Amino acid sequence: MEYSKLVDLYQKLESTPKRLEKTHLLSEFLKQVPKEDMHHIMLLVQGKVFPNWDDRKIGFAARLVLKALTISTGISVDDMEKLWKETGDLGLVAETVIKKKKQVTLFSQDITTAKVFANVQKMATLEGEGTVDRKVQLLAELLTSATPKEAIYLIRTALEDLRVGLGEGTIRDAIVWAFFAEKIGMKYDLQENDLVLPDNNRELYEHFSIVVQEAYDITNDFSKVAELAKYGEERLKEVSLEPGRPVKVMLAQKVHSMEEGLEKVEAPAAIENKYDGFRVEVHKKNGEIMLFTRRLENVTKQFPEIVDFVRENVAGESFILDSEAVGFSPKTNKYLPFQEISQRIKRKYDISEMSSKFPVELNIFDILYYEGKSYIKEEFQVRRKLLEKITTQKPLKIVLAKEIITSDPFVGQKFYHEAINSGFEGVMLKNLKAPYKPGSRVGFMVKLKPVLDMLDVVITAGEWGEGKRSGWLSTYTIAVRDEDTGEFLEIGKVGTGFKEKDEEGVSFNQITELLKPLVISEKGKEVIVKPEIVIEVSFEEVQKSPSYKSGYALRFPRLARLRNMERSAEDINTLADVEDIFYGQKKRS
Ligand code: AMP
Repeated sequence: MEYSKLVDLYQKLESTPKRLEKTHLLSEFLKQVPKEDMHHIMLLVQGKVFPNWDDRKIGFAARLVLKALTISTGISVDDMEKLWKETGDLGLVAETVIKKKKQVTLFSQDITTAKVFANVQKMATLEGEGTVDRKVQLLAELLTSATPKEAIYLIRTALEDLRVGLGEGTIRDAIVWAFFAEKIGMKYDLQENDLVLPDNNRELYEHFSIVVQEAYDITNDFSKVAELAKYGEERLKEVSLEPGRPVKVMLAQKVHSMEEGLEKVEAPAAIENKYDGFRVEVHKKNGEIMLFTRRLENVTKQFPEIVDFVRENVAGESFILDSEAVGFSPKTNKYLPFQEISQRIKRKYDISEMSSKFPVELNIFDILYYEGKSYIKEEFQVRRKLLEKITTQKPLKIVLAKEIITSDPFVGQKFYHEAINSGFEGVMLKNLKAPYKPGSRVGFMVKLKPVLDMLDVVITAGEWGEGKRSGWLSTYTIAVRDEDTGEFLEIGKVGTGFKEKDEEGVSFNQITELLKPLVISEKGKEVIVKPEIVIEVSFEEVQKSPSYKSGYALRFPRLARLRNMERSAEDINTLADVEDIFYGQKKRS
């Protein structure tokens, strides 16, 4: 197809902010795209030359654009720089200088979309000596034949900055409108900017949207989806996974209680620890292992140890696994919050140093493909069984997500408490019979985690610990302040979040030493102290409670920080603050 036709579309798309109108414009255009051009045109429409999952970049710098323009127009870089400063847009610079040149040369040749695509893709794949000059030549060649309007979009494509306002949803809908409008019996009313559906029935429309979306979630490639859509629904449904090509991960809905979770995913359900790391999709294709993030970025190079763990401990030649990589301290072997290892994701150098400084454990929780067969339509319990069969678990290297299966909310709740107390973010509940839905938040898995709020509280009492903790005050009564009377009102007891070793953070020993000089009285195991030591605690919820003087209790309180250096007991949170949280919660739920 001539490039000018695509440029017409770009201009029309740019001229309207209305999403439905854009959808209409793109769908009408797609109807006219010849079969052999569909693949590259769908990519160019998105300003790309590679599908989403392929992270090769065109990598063309603005300075190089000026060079290419000089070659194709003979106008000096200095002159163009002036113009660039005035307009701030290299596309417009190109338009102006090419217009000037066209007045003096008569020669012009139509450029095709295929030619543009080939040249731009070549720019991204060139390597080795002289790459920069060859890149510039490839763009200059296109600009020499381009009209001023075409030049604008050539430049924007080279700079990966197309700006025509097409989102994924619009492209998906345009494919539906282009290839299934007749089957649906739908029309677009340009005047009203509205979709007209027969008998106002959205069902069929939704059906085709889902078919197109699902094909996209699996391929991550609209050009592939559009090519297949031309041949009808059946071809789209045949789309399958391919190791080496990342697929969108399934997402989780949120629930607020164990009961709600079990109801949502249907009991009996699998309940797993929710690891606070980052999602890794592991692919193995003909023996080669690749790692992708949730955003489908290839991070294989950054995590060579994960590649080794998988190679050594997961049987099979080709598969796709879903997992979470969690950092742990190489000194204590305890899990670390995600922030601590996040720097490894973008890191391109000192990789082996990073892996010994910030080691990770891979927690596998799903499998989508194994040895030539897609498993996404299989039940979760079948997929988990397969994982158990093919994985050799090695703690601190590669393990399966810890899981129980239960219908009993009490058992679930116990597992949840254990997860929280062991420092996990919460739990995931999963429907045992559900398929894997790439890219969807359908509720086949849900997350339950504490809604964290924080309060500054003061310690008013402590209890001597037992066993490993004897010699330390290990459970602390905490209180907020009554603004009117200045009295300290108890709101709960906290013993979580403190460390057993001083070098690991705020320890029982440290708090005990701080409290000892403040002791007022002792009775049995309990010690009353002067309210001086301020700590910040996180908690899940505020509940009414007759057990404490404040009339409230914190659910799952946990030490967040010691604040005795910057806060005195006069500065802590008040009963009024607690009431605000309590009534705010009620509004939220
Ligand atoms: P959120 O990021 O809060 O929406 O929670 C969902 C995320 O939890 C997923 O995208 C995973 O990265 C992560 N996750 C941690 N543990 C698990 C698990 N056992 N199963 C599924 N996802 C998990």
